[in-house]
Amino acid sequence: MSKENLNPLESAQLQVKKACDSLNLGNDVYELLKEPQRMIEISIPVKMDDGTLKVFKGYRAAHNTAIGPGKGGIRFHPGVNPDEVKALSVWMTFKCGVMGVPYGGGKGGITVDPLTLSQGELERLSRGYIQGLYKYLGEKIDIPAPDVGSNGQIMAWMVDEYIKLTGENHMGVLTGKPVSWGGSQGRNEATGFGVSVITREAAAKAGINMKKANVAIQGFGNVGRFTVKNVERQGANIVAIGEWSPKVGTFAIYNENGLDFQDMADFVDQNKSLVGYPKGKQITLEEFWALDVDIMIPAALENAIQEKEAKLIKAKLVTEAANGPITAEADAIFKEKGIIVTPDILSNAGGVTVSYFEWIQNQYGYYWSEEEVIEKEEAVLMEAFDDLWKFKESRNCTFRKAAYKHGVKRITDVMKLRGWFE
Ligand code: NAD
Repeated sequence: MSKENLNPLESAQLQVKKACDSLNLGNDVYELLKEPQRMIEISIPVKMDDGTLKVFKGYRAAHNTAIGPGKGGIRFHPGVNPDEVKALSVWMTFKCGVMGVPYGGGKGGITVDPLTLSQGELERLSRGYIQGLYKYLGEKIDIPAPDVGSNGQIMAWMVDEYIKLTGENHMGVLTGKPVSWGGSQGRNEATGFGVSVITREAAAKAGINMKKANVAIQGFGNVGRFTVKNVERQGANIVAIGEWSPKVGTFAIYNENGLDFQDMADFVDQNKSLVGYPKGKQITLEEFWALDVDIMIPAALENAIQEKEAKLIKAKLVTEAANGPITAEADAIFKEKGIIVTPDILSNAGGVTVSYFEWIQNQYGYYWSEEEVIEKEEAVLMEAFDDLWKFKESRNCTFRKAAYKHGVKRITDVMKLRGWFE
């Protein structure tokens, strides 16, 4: 078995290189796109509840701002490191390019397990991140949002800190805020809802009837949870969930008759995890990946599906809901097996799309109804899906390649107009 390269930056760079080569763009464009334009590392001192001082590492990358300000979430996770932040910022550039939203790519993170902090410590850490970076953030500079381990409350503390430091009420400096203070209706569910729209469209192409489909989903966080909710609404049967908890590590639950979204959500809200959920039986991870399902949706973290998992997977369709969940080796196996993979930069782009809607609403101080947001999100995603599907069919390439070529071309055209190369 080959030793897989799991460095997310190297795999993002490989995807960009392949797209540049197949568009005959020459090396200058690749040199401009392979690393972020700006990468900042900060130390964040936090007074802990016991009176001690702890210093955390924080990062913010602005990958490419040719089209518009940087855009991308802030991850709170113990695994956050400079290469991961850079890779996630690269993916954001092309996600915005594919969706046609007027942003470049950005991403940030703090190396921390937020579950180990008290509310007070979490608030001081969130405010400290803004104190270290506010000069490089702004509605027209770089616009963060939530990602793994962060949420609307954290965005509210961060915007409050930004307003205090700058003295100006720029609500659009961060998106993913609570609806009661500058957030958009539908933003919390936007990524999972978008995943369900792309899954439905791709399933139709793959000849899968959603009403009869069996689906397995890895991850029951923000993205996974709302993917489950909306895929269930389409009539599919969610037979398994793969999850992780600090106490037991990775685990999976299974029920061939279907797991109920609301029941699982209530259980997690009460118990903080799906560990011990009584209406599904425990299965091993090997059994989870090898399930006889129509659709598999990884919605947890990058590199979840490697060579070993790809060999086990029997689904006809894999929707990438997380960022970078499939390694290059696993992708090659899917291609060989004829499994359709919808790429992350399309399938999870509902989040950035509704972040864009939130930013527009903030500029105007005029807010839309939930129905309006959902309708607009669905329309934008279906149009992007149709464009890429036609592109993929006409060039006889994978969905991922079509998405990267499309994204790289859009950014390259603008860089050329702006005189950044040639
Ligand atoms: P989250 O922290 O809310 O949820 C992540 C979930 O994955 C958690 O429930 C966690 O327990 C689980 N998990 C972690 N490691 C696991 C493992 N090894 N096996 C199984 N489950 C595991 O994060 P999220 O916001 O749902 O983000 C998930 C993914 O989607 C990330 O890749 C993120 O970058 C991407 N994403 C998020 C958004 C968004 O709007 N939140 C938008 C686009 C992409």
